[in-house]
Amino acid sequence: KKKYDYLIVGAGLFGAVFACEAKRAGKSCIVVDKRHHRGGNIYCEDVDGIHVHKYGAHIFHTDNKEVWNYVNSFVEFNRYTNSPVARYGDKLYNLPFNMNTFYQLWGVTTPAKAKVKIEEQRGEFAHIAEPANLEEQALKLCGKDIYEKLIKGYTEKQWGRAATELPAFIIRRLPFRFVFDNNYFNDAYQGIPIGGYNALIDALLGDTEVCLATDYFKNRAELDGVAEKTLFTGCIDEYFDYRCGHLEYRSLRFEEKRLEMENFQGNAVVNYTEREIPYTRVIEHKHFEFGKQPHTIITYEYPDSFAPGKEPYYPVNDEKNSRIYADYRQLAESVPNVLFGGRLAQYTYADMDDTVAAALALCKTEL
Ligand code: FAD
Repeated sequence: KKKYDYLIVGAGLFGAVFACEAKRAGKSCIVVDKRHHRGGNIYCEDVDGIHVHKYGAHIFHTDNKEVWNYVNSFVEFNRYTNSPVARYGDKLYNLPFNMNTFYQLWGVTTPAKAKVKIEEQRGEFAHIAEPANLEEQALKLCGKDIYEKLIKGYTEKQWGRAATELPAFIIRRLPFRFVFDNNYFNDAYQGIPIGGYNALIDALLGDTEVCLATDYFKNRAELDGVAEKTLFTGCIDEYFDYRCGHLEYRSLRFEEKRLEMENFQGNAVVNYTEREIPYTRVIEHKHFEFGKQPHTIITYEYPDSFAPGKEPYYPVNDEKNSRIYADYRQLAESVPNVLFGGRLAQYTYADMDDTVAAALALCKTEL
């Protein structure tokens, strides 16, 4: 018999939930991660008391009561509510589009007046029957003001292409709210773990043995020998040595700054919607946890293309990549004693609640 029941490749949220449940089921596990820290993409670095989201801002939100209760059994969550602000020129607008936004755009004070204004704005583009690109689609849905101030530049930066060159289907509908409610999410539950995401990961991993700075592929022969079964949460194309091709991703680039001031922008998330400003968002991390430190840490977020060596952030779920992934999926089925899970092995964008739900589902069938 081998030393462990499970080798878990990846100390991210998926691996950590599995490790926790495996232990509860009486199984022994060892976790390896190539990074120098646990937590995968939800890892935060503590900079003099401020938890800095190193791989992009993370806000836990869910409609899934079982998942919410599950994570709350490990850590308490604070009352953080995501309410990003958009900046265009020197004007600020609340998001998502709601009565505050309409008031800021047009001075309209009632839902009825806002609806009249939006119909008037859309009316100009009513002649567009079949939008040929994203620009036409957006204009048809919301008219010129919202499109030019809040959608065009941001979208063009995100995709690295002109809105007239982007397909219309990217925006199917625009949710308008005729109430004064800046809560970005519609989910019943949201918040940030008190003590940060690392507290959640630490609670999940407990005393499970974790080997950091250990790349599975550089120690494959040895690692394959230590456990009866493997849970792999890394990139599926790398697992199979890219034999069906490389899966594409979009990446992000972060520029972090420490400022010796208490409060830089008064909100955790500010979107910059002008095309001329190269970054899409500025994150001020302390506001996720209502921090009162005398200093602050901000991160400028830039969209970035993907290349080997860069962080794979968003899968490109187009036809070509979906086909490649299907080939890997088929290969994966034929590997005995290896489970594949998590966002990289499943080549999917999954919010944290979906990740927890998927890990718990795997535990149910496996353990
Ligand atoms: P990961 O966190 O990526 O963990 C995989 C781990 O495997 C990594 O630590 C990696 O180092 C390790 N690994 C990979 N290959 C190897 C190898 N060869 N050897 C050893 N170790 C290896 N969700 C929300 O709910 N709210 C948000 O606001 C939110 N914001 C997001 C923002 C961005 C920019 C992104 C990309 C995602 C966001 N998410 C958000 C989703 C969230 O990040 C994921 O749900 C979660 O991190 C997935 O966990 P995971 O364990 O599947 O993957």
